Amino acid sequence: MNIEKLHTIGILGGMSSAATGEYYKLINQKVKEIRGGYTIAEILISSVNFANIEYFVRNDLWDEAGMYLGTKARQLELAGASCIFLGTNTMHRVRDQIKSTISIPFIDIFETTAQEIKKDKKKNIGILGTYTVMTDDFYKKSFSQYGISLISPLEEEKQEINRIIWDEMTNHQFLLSSKNYFIKVIQHLEERGAEGVILGCTEIKMLIHQTDVPNINLYDTTTLHCDLAAKICTDLIDPNIYLK
Ligand code: GLU
Repeated sequence: MNIEKLHTIGILGGMSSAATGEYYKLINQKVKEIRGGYTIAEILISSVNFANIEYFVRNDLWDEAGMYLGTKARQLELAGASCIFLGTNTMHRVRDQIKSTISIPFIDIFETTAQEIKKDKKKNIGILGTYTVMTDDFYKKSFSQYGISLISPLEEEKQEINRIIWDEMTNHQFLLSSKNYFIKVIQHLEERGAEGVILGCTEIKMLIHQTDVPNINLYDTTTLHCDLAAKICTDLIDPNIYLK
């Protein structure tokens, strides 16, 4: 038998463990769809301690977060990863620090998502994610480079969404009451002019599906990121085009 060659995908995970489990599942499903047979992805996962991440985010310790994740990314590179996927939207805030520690491509979740939104020629898009993602200018700028304006939920909605993400979803709890709350917020974003909604947190896809809100397009960052990982893994896309 010929040894089948695949690119080894490096994942910075554990943010949360629920999300990383989803990355592992989705990438393998997609690779199997592409290659068939018994093929699954070659993946190196550095699953970090989520307690550290929670501490960094709550205390605004972005430099410390960048150093922590940069070290983990470098370890993945040394272990043989051909590119890095950071499986969280929130921590992309320190992507530049991570990139500065590695010489392999970093595959940005926002770039991946923005390109999909551009294909649909949409400009005003709702965003759901942690309070940081829905509020901080960093995330708005990431999308405005692509001509996309983000519409955030109202303050009270942001607080509740953030609570659901941290208290429930990162702890593997996906409650019907929370699902109904998300549906209400999505409808509200649509009434305020959103032409689509970004699921800008890597756990949300386990709570809300496109069929729950058939009238508005959902852009799920986790699925888009994992699809790209599978394409890179199977050599349909050269990871080096993302080298900047
Ligand atoms: N997984 C989440 C995200 O995509 C939130 C947890 C975190 O801060 O990493 O932003």
